[in-house]
Amino acid sequence: MARDPSDFSETTKRALAFRANHQCSICRIPTSGPSDVSPRKYVNLGEAAHIHGARPGSARYIEETTPEARSDIENGIWLCRTHAKYVDNDPVAYPAGALRKIKADHEEGIKREQVGRAKEAGLSSDFIAVGPNTVFSGEVIGVSGQDWRVRVDHFLIGDLNTLGALSEAFDRTDPYDRFVLINAQGDGRELEAAPVWEKTDSQYVVSLRVKQGAPRMNAHQLPADLRLTEDHDLPNDGGSPTISGLASLPQKIKTTLSLQRGELFRHPSFGSRIAEYADLFRDTPLLPRLIRLEVIRMASIPCPDPLNPPGITPLRSVLRVYRVEQLAARAKEPWVPFRFHLDVAGVGEWTCDISIHIGRCREA
Ligand SMILES: [Zn+2]
Repeated sequence: MARDPSDFSETTKRALAFRANHQCSICRIPTSGPSDVSPRKYVNLGEAAHIHGARPGSARYIEETTPEARSDIENGIWLCRTHAKYVDNDPVAYPAGALRKIKADHEEGIKREQVGRAKEAGLSSDFIAVGPNTVFSGEVIGVSGQDWRVRVDHFLIGDLNTLGALSEAFDRTDPYDRFVLINAQGDGRELEAAPVWEKTDSQYVVSLRVKQGAPRMNAHQLPADLRLTEDHDLPNDGGSPTISGLASLPQKIKTTLSLQRGELFRHPSFGSRIAEYADLFRDTPLLPRLIRLEVIRMASIPCPDPLNPPGITPLRSVLRVYRVEQLAARAKEPWVPFRFHLDVAGVGEWTCDISIHIGRCREA
């Protein structure tokens, strides 16, 4: 069923919930938690409320505006059900300006808490991917040899069901899809066994048995690649037709991340998921963090590419991914510039601006 264009998209609702740390912006009660019905389910008691109402007669409705403006994230605030009801029923107690102030103060508070806590503990909750269908915010809480334990805070993509599906079908799953990627460490590993999880103190903890890290290669020894122009074509400028060593790394990153999963007929599981993520999280702060997961995957998980010897990762010189930033404020064009902060074998800390093909904005 088509969504009323004045209603928030699922993407916008998720972004509002994450920006509010899944707490009501007024009373700060947690709006998500474990379900009493099943140890595999969770409940959501939060709502993306409209600041200016979506329909005639609703609170703070403005007639002379567009459905796009009504469904824009700027017009939303994350609330518990009780406060969503108060706010909808009492526009006098909650004028638009007050709601905007409440939202901004709450988001600012979350940001301060995050920074403070990260400094205090030396770590922070960031994205973790387990297999291709599950991404959550969480933290590594224990490492003992090849056994890693991670805490799950909030699911962004998938849920306990997608994690369960990976566990159950682990032996039949494409080895290339058996992985864990950890943004806070900038690194990932292949999984040796099916993930298992348990619930402790109302938290989920996933136990992962990982393989040894994939070997990396000194970037100065990267083999020759065909050189491509800015337009992604073969050059006829009289220059060398190939590039190698560190000079070839930006192009390698660009072509690897811009090749979308499914584009190679013979290797349907090969390729990046950046266009999929861009469809879901374009122009949100979540997109660069998801792209970081993909760079980690391409750097740390060996690919089934018959052109390469076994055990080689696509970005074979990248040891660690420190940060990915989106440089253009709004992403409308298919090629969007990002800044990559990486740890490169044989080089050390290395920063490069590279445009990645993330696909065009799909008009709703
Ligand atoms: Zn509330």
